[in-house]
Amino acid sequence: MVIAEIKSLKDIKKMIENFKRVLIVGCGECVSVCLTGGQKQVELLSSALRISSRNNKEKRILKGKTISRQCEPKYLENIKKDIEESDAVLSMACGAGVQALSEKFRKIPVFPAMNTKFIGVSDEEGNFIEMCAACGDCILSLTGGICPVTRCPKGLLNGPCGGSKNGKCEANPETPCAWLLIYERMKELDKIDDLKNINSPKDWSKNMRPGKLKAGI
Ligand code: SF4
Ligand code: SF4
Repeated sequence: MVIAEIKSLKDIKKMIENFKRVLIVGCGECVSVCLTGGQKQVELLSSALRISSRNNKEKRILKGKTISRQCEPKYLENIKKDIEESDAVLSMACGAGVQALSEKFRKIPVFPAMNTKFIGVSDEEGNFIEMCAACGDCILSLTGGICPVTRCPKGLLNGPCGGSKNGKCEANPETPCAWLLIYERMKELDKIDDLKNINSPKDWSKNMRPGKLKAGI
C-alpha cells in the first residue's frame, strides 16, 4: 500500500491561511490503513485547525468528509456538492488522490495535507517499511522475493557490497542487509546456486515517468 504521513500543523495552516471555507477530505484506502489520512484523522485535523482558528480569531469554517478512494474519479462525485460549497480543499490522501481531486474540480485549490512516502507494508502495528519502488520490471523471482532495488540503499542487483556488518547494512546499521536477507531466503528455498548467476543491469526505460497502463490481460 501507499504510505503517507501527515504534514506539520504549521505547514497545513500556512496553505489554508487565505481561505474561509475549507473542506478536509480523507481517503478510505491506504492512508486509512496506515492510520494517517482516514476518517479518524480527518476528525483530528479538523478539530486541531478549529482550535487554532479560534485561538487566532480567524473566521474559518472547517468541514470533513472521507470517501472510499480518492484516486478514483467515480468516488469523487460523492463530495461534489461539498467541494462546490468550499473555497479550498485539504486532501488527506496520497499525491495521486490530491491530483485526482485537483483534476476533477479545477476551479477549487486542492492542497496536500500529507507527504507521500513510499509503497510498503507493516511489520508491526503502526510501523511501515518500504518494499517496492515501482521500478516497472519486477525481479523478485530472481531474489527470493526480497527487493534489492528498494531494500538495499545502493539498489545493487548483485550483492552484497562488502560493507555489510553483523547482518546490517553499512549505509544504515539499523537496517538488515537486503542481500543477506536474499541469501538466507534463497538458502531456505534451496536455490542458493541461482545466486551465482549475474543479474543484468536494470532497464530503467521501463520506469519512465509518468507511468501508463491499459488494464486487461
Ligand atoms: S523489483 Fe521493482 S517492482 Fe519488484 S518489488 Fe522491487 S521495485 Fe518493486
Ligand atoms: S550492506 Fe547490504 S543492503 Fe547495505 S548497501 Fe551493502 S549490499 Fe546493500
